[in-house]
Amino acid sequence: MRRQTLAQLRSLGFRSYRAYLLSDLWKANKARLKLRKSCWVCRSRTDLHAHHASYLNIGREQPGDVVVLCKTCHRGTHNLAKHYRLPLETAHTSYKAYKAGTFVPTRKPVKKKRRKRM
Ligand SMILES: [Zn+2]
Ligand SMILES: [Zn+2]
Repeated sequence: MRRQTLAQLRSLGFRSYRAYLLSDLWKANKARLKLRKSCWVCRSRTDLHAHHASYLNIGREQPGDVVVLCKTCHRGTHNLAKHYRLPLETAHTSYKAYKAGTFVPTRKPVKKKRRKRM
């Protein structure tokens, strides 16, 4: 999370991103965006999460900033993004391609650092 995002949240009176996600404002924003009722990737209708593809308009999210993903696809999206250092904005698109077997990474996966022993 960018420092600016947190600053934006603080200016709205939230101590953390988590506090915002538990707030009535976030509930209202989700209602305003009329989010779909199925996972954007696999169309599942259970365990749905609202995933932030962009934090730029946090507190006043715009259409496209929030994508509905099921729990599994949400986790998968973040894991893939982390692993290949994908931009958050398109991580869910990459994950969909990954599920379809058409994902072509443009960056090498992050290697776990191995500690050298003296
Ligand atoms: Zn899904
Ligand atoms: Zn997410």
